Amino acid sequence: MNAGPPARSPGSAPDPAASPAAGTELAGLTSAEAGERAARGAFLVVPVASVEQHGPHLPLSTDTDVAVALCARLARADPAAVIAPPLAYGSSGEHQAFPGTLSIGSEALELVLVELGRSATCTFAGVLLVSTHGGNAVAVRRAEQRLRAESRDVRAWLASWRGDAHAGRTETSLQLALDPRRVRLDRAERGNTRPVAELMPALRESSVQAVSPNGVLGDPAGASAAEGGALLAGLLADLLAAVRSWRAGESG
Ligand SMILES: [Zn+2]
Repeated sequence: MNAGPPARSPGSAPDPAASPAAGTELAGLTSAEAGERAARGAFLVVPVASVEQHGPHLPLSTDTDVAVALCARLARADPAAVIAPPLAYGSSGEHQAFPGTLSIGSEALELVLVELGRSATCTFAGVLLVSTHGGNAVAVRRAEQRLRAESRDVRAWLASWRGDAHAGRTETSLQLALDPRRVRLDRAERGNTRPVAELMPALRESSVQAVSPNGVLGDPAGASAAEGGALLAGLLADLLAAVRSWRAGESG
């Protein structure tokens, strides 16, 4: 497996690996081409993310950027993967106090994914949901279960990492690796650095703003493109392993 993109300094051009190879994006295919790809065993990958605040220094698209980049890398590694346009609206109610956040909530997301899965499986025998936003987890898992209960071959993969939770060092590093022009490093601020497990009761009862006025759960200090590249490589390895076991027919 590829070790991921090399470290790059802020201001350099976007990572060419972030652009998918020709013919891997569903939206660029004709209907007949999509049908041919499906008939030859292709599976559809749907990036599922969010439009939500990511502190004073990262764009609202951060989760979507990470999902799209991971799926593009998956398509480069596995020629059977066809990438759908991302579902950028997710369940982000906990961030609603911050301007720009666009959330459709967990119930609506679940329904969208169920209907999308039903439609997608009319063309593709296999459909993979790739979610990079923790707040989507319940809806994504429930949609996966419902679709599988309808005997559709749908799998969900949820990104997880050991670093800080939100708009901290981890996500800042990921964005620096993807495109440093998206990061306002001069505006980066430390947020609430207590472990998320400790903050969870307060997060569930109120909102992110209540525990972190600047919207950051973690600390962007120390973030780097090199660290982001390593994180992306780790996420891709996990995603590829999940795809392999799914395609090999293992249950999970
Ligand atoms: Zn995020």
